[in-house]
Amino acid sequence: MPTSVTMQMAVIKSCNVADCSYNKHGNECHAMAITIGGPQPYCDTYLRSSSKGGVDQTGAVGACKVENCKFNKNLECSADGIDVVASGNNAKCQTFSAR
Ligand code: SF4
Ligand code: SF4
Repeated sequence: MPTSVTMQMAVIKSCNVADCSYNKHGNECHAMAITIGGPQPYCDTYLRSSSKGGVDQTGAVGACKVENCKFNKNLECSADGIDVVASGNNAKCQTFSAR
């Protein structure tokens, strides 16, 4: 039987990537669950489009592939919450901290 892991999803406290379809008010993520990709801690869910989407709740981290972050446990994020900021053409997890 697989071992189950119970964790709270890390909320996205802020994201300043205003041109993302999931961003509301310039600083809120409303995607139900984002994926942070690897090896760079960038938001893989970032979608630059004129159409808006998302849900009526604050977004959270559904999965994170950045294994060298100290908050990464079993490819999930164990931080209380994360902040996401624009970085060039990407949206970067600013809470990333190398092990
Ligand atoms: S965290 Fe990612 S999906 Fe959410 S608004 Fe920012 S760039 Fe978009
Ligand atoms: S804080 Fe670390 S584990 Fe959490 S989403 Fe960011 S890079 Fe991934």
